[in-house]
Amino acid sequence: MNSEQVDIADNLRRVKERIRRAADKVGCDPDGIELVAVTKGFPADYILKAAAAGVRIIGENRAQEASTKHLEISSKIPKDLEWHFIGHLQTNKVKMVIGFSDLIHSLDRESLAVELDKRARDTGKIQRVLIEVNVAGEETKGGIAESGVDDLIGKLVAYKNVRVEGLMTMAPWGADAGSVRNVFSHLKRLYDKVIGKFDLDHFKTLSMGMTDDFEIAIEEGSNMVRIGRAIFGDRRTN
Ligand SMILES: *Cc1c(COP(=O)(O)O)cnc(C)c1O
Repeated sequence: MNSEQVDIADNLRRVKERIRRAADKVGCDPDGIELVAVTKGFPADYILKAAAAGVRIIGENRAQEASTKHLEISSKIPKDLEWHFIGHLQTNKVKMVIGFSDLIHSLDRESLAVELDKRARDTGKIQRVLIEVNVAGEETKGGIAESGVDDLIGKLVAYKNVRVEGLMTMAPWGADAGSVRNVFSHLKRLYDKVIGKFDLDHFKTLSMGMTDDFEIAIEEGSNMVRIGRAIFGDRRTN
């Protein structure tokens, strides 16, 4: 498969239209919903094609793959294209992604914050992060248990080069629409609670919703969706 065979621009238009309709349905501003185009599993030229079609944020979920692709196209990447790291991040891979990751969606433990803080300081940046919450308590998934979120946020204050900007979750694999909706509405309530409890200047992002469930996520209050297949087609490998 190559990027000639898939009409990224057309798919993108359709996805944006679906985002708009879902937002309209619940009376929220579609322009307030950010779209992360997830390019994992696709060659680097998809990133450039997506950017040319108007994508402003791309998402990658594997450190090695993201880093290789970033290097491959670094001279051609539009300056305003944001790179988000959305997958589980091993502590020893932080140095691989910190140079180009504008937002990391998957902070789920203090030890990762320690490493991010250290590397971010070395790089001279403030690393923006979201806390990934494992709402459904699936053992196979990353993310911190809901009960640990307050404690983690409290601890992050000490890490001056890490800035928490919101929460992220993934719906359980293969769950029915009702359960998916419950997970998303649950995270939205937690998000609102955090805002009420902590005085965090930049806490404004609720990242939830992928190809199979982004409309439900938007209806439940998501303001950042991470969409791969609906834009780029099916991945050969996952
Ligand atoms: C792959 C992935 C997505 C996008 O999934 P699609 O089903 O291709 O839309 C979103 N978020 C994370 C964390 C992912 O790993």
